[in-house]
Amino acid sequence: MGSMKDALKKAGFKATKDNNERKHVAAKKKTDAQKHQEERNFCEVCELIQPDVERFVHRNPTVDAEWICSACVDKNEIHDKFRKTHQSDFAKKGRYRREFGPTRDKKEF
Ligand SMILES: [Zn+2]
Repeated sequence: MGSMKDALKKAGFKATKDNNERKHVAAKKKTDAQKHQEERNFCEVCELIQPDVERFVHRNPTVDAEWICSACVDKNEIHDKFRKTHQSDFAKKGRYRREFGPTRDKKEF
């Protein structure tokens, strides 16, 4: 039969082990969530980090880029109908607006 000290040691060891496992699971969950929330915010036209970068599959031959901020896409007169994503910080906050032509509704994405 183990002593009281042994029993406490066992209990303490068990608690620590459970705690470590919980931390491990939490860390793993966080990593998976981050993967899904990956956001593109680098405009390939002005080469700057912008809060309103979206992917455009357009036919404008003078623009060799797909991930473009709304200022650059307006300047190059690329219609919002060519927009494939609604993932930018502005889009999520409902602040994504196009100057050139209409802005598509977020329900379309
Ligand atoms: Zn830009």
